[in-house]
Amino acid sequence: MRRSKNWVKVGVLSLGIMSFSGLLQANHLAEKSAYFNDRGTFYNRFDFQAVQETAPDVFTLTFKNEQELYYNHFVVTSAGVVVFDPLSDSAAEAMVDVIRDKAPGQPVAGIIYSHLHTDHIAGARVLRKAFGADIPIIAHERTRRYFSIRKVPFIDMPTEVVGDEGKTYQFGDTEIQLQYLGDVHTASILVPVLPDKRVAYTVDYINGDVVGWTDLPGINLDVLMAQQRRTLEVDADIFLFGHGAPGNKATLQRQIDYFTALQIEARKALAAGWTEDQTAERIELEDYRHFSNYEDWFEGNVRAFYRWEKNR
Ligand SMILES: [Zn+2]
Repeated sequence: MRRSKNWVKVGVLSLGIMSFSGLLQANHLAEKSAYFNDRGTFYNRFDFQAVQETAPDVFTLTFKNEQELYYNHFVVTSAGVVVFDPLSDSAAEAMVDVIRDKAPGQPVAGIIYSHLHTDHIAGARVLRKAFGADIPIIAHERTRRYFSIRKVPFIDMPTEVVGDEGKTYQFGDTEIQLQYLGDVHTASILVPVLPDKRVAYTVDYINGDVVGWTDLPGINLDVLMAQQRRTLEVDADIFLFGHGAPGNKATLQRQIDYFTALQIEARKALAAGWTEDQTAERIELEDYRHFSNYEDWFEGNVRAFYRWEKNR
């Protein structure tokens, strides 16, 4: 009797799976680009929210996935459009439309990858399909090395690389410096600086009024904070981010102050003999409650600093 019930259950389960995959197929057909059928498109689904001109001819796009807000950017130069981080296939599809709207008839002259994390740099193939298969992709040399070892089918390989010494590119009338400020966050972060426009772009290791990601896994917090302070010395006025609305040096300072406050609280908790759980429960930082993802990740940030200071 029990056995036959189990059989019935198994039958229902496989029916369920079949109809689920049928539903997936229907969704794929409904997608704008059903031909890109992998994780790069569908795992990290981005919804386009807005575009703003953050400096003359510099455009910032806002996207939302299931967890948080992402930002990417492009600059319109006299030699064409230069894109900073395509993000994903779905984000790049939205970006194609925005580029055609803001820079009608312009080619895409280059794509720059900020670092090797795929949640920021997938989608180049969509831009290349729309604007030309030979568009150069520029990245840090360790980004290319990483993808030459670890094949990721939805990431287009960088065609030009930059070392730790950095490099300056000229796209028509627009100079773009790719600066390397130091080993932080995958040791592959290029910071693009547009000196004429007084614009710089930083990703992940410093954000615009956003708390750190979950419990800051694997992050050397001393290195992180040192690089954040170094970023204050970048010669620019407008700072664009991978996460967080565009800001300025005051925005950078708030991010530094936030991490510094966490560090001070963690040290106080350890001095008072609190456990990690007590610390996570007791600490709030009212001045930063408005930061994005505070409700979800602040506790993880507290735990990360507690552990870091405890193991010092
Ligand atoms: Zn990253």
